[in-house]
Amino acid sequence: MPIINNSKTDPNKILPITYPWAREYYRAGVNNNWVPEEVSMQKDVEQWKSDSVLSKTERRLILWNLGFFSTAESLTANNIVLAVYNHVTNPEARQYLLRQGFEEAIHTDTFIYCCDTLGLDPDEIYNMYLTIPSIKEKDDFVVELTKSVFDPTFTTEGSENVQKFLCDLIGYYVIMEGIFFYAGFAMMLALKRQNKMVGIGEQFEYIMRDESLHLAFGCDLIKTIRKENPEVWTQTFCDHVVDLVKKAVELEQRYARDACPEGLLGINADRFSDYVEYVADRRLERLDLPKVYNRENPFPWMSQATDLAKEKNFFETRVTEYQSAAALTWD
Ligand code: FE
Ligand code: MN
Repeated sequence: MPIINNSKTDPNKILPITYPWAREYYRAGVNNNWVPEEVSMQKDVEQWKSDSVLSKTERRLILWNLGFFSTAESLTANNIVLAVYNHVTNPEARQYLLRQGFEEAIHTDTFIYCCDTLGLDPDEIYNMYLTIPSIKEKDDFVVELTKSVFDPTFTTEGSENVQKFLCDLIGYYVIMEGIFFYAGFAMMLALKRQNKMVGIGEQFEYIMRDESLHLAFGCDLIKTIRKENPEVWTQTFCDHVVDLVKKAVELEQRYARDACPEGLLGINADRFSDYVEYVADRRLERLDLPKVYNRENPFPWMSQATDLAKEKNFFETRVTEYQSAAALTWD
């Protein structure tokens, strides 16, 4: 019962389940439920309006990350609904895709909430993916890579098309959500560690926890397609994927230097570049591809950042006891 190109799949019959892992991701996503309004922005607003708390560098970094993420979340959501959902007809995989789509809506909402509470100019923020070259280059790279799948006549029949579909999944799950999000995550969480913009920082922690599931699901989807279509996973294709990851690393490093040219208190700007290389190696490993950089993690605190404490006030007011999913491993 293959996950793509299966004429026998009835997308309306979820039972019996063929891919229990897909259902596990759905449950893990539900366990991570959150909405941005549950995080107070009071202190962030005070800090943003004050002249003495944030440096010019820090303000630039915040704007660049809001600019990048505000539109990247929509690009990702569109890819799920308009491309992935179309071709992955398996019902339990689709159940997760619906959940992921909802989470992308929550993330989109987070940036609306940030713009509103901080009183930012939406025209400035939402145009940064066109006006800031280091942001535009990242988005263009993913869009270009996934263009053929958006062609209304595209099907996943035949090896070449399966490879194109895999490139779409690699473009969005591995490169966009798995590499292009991570310099921004590290910057915003580094700022939070210095007690600056802690509300946005916490929202980024929740987004990062969601994204780590998206990325893990995407890698399992890629691996399943590979297992069921082994002929497409050629040496040439593997080399191509490694090249894409290397190019993505360059773009992400350029973005990191542009967003944070002088580094942050105690963090040299180069450390963000090192972190991107470390993250890229983890993604390659996850796809059973050889590591390229062999970089040590310059920010070990990033691996703990998704262990969000559940005793936070807003959870106490709820009947449902939320829990973090322990059954799955991700980074
Ligand atoms: Fe997202
Ligand atoms: Mn996502």
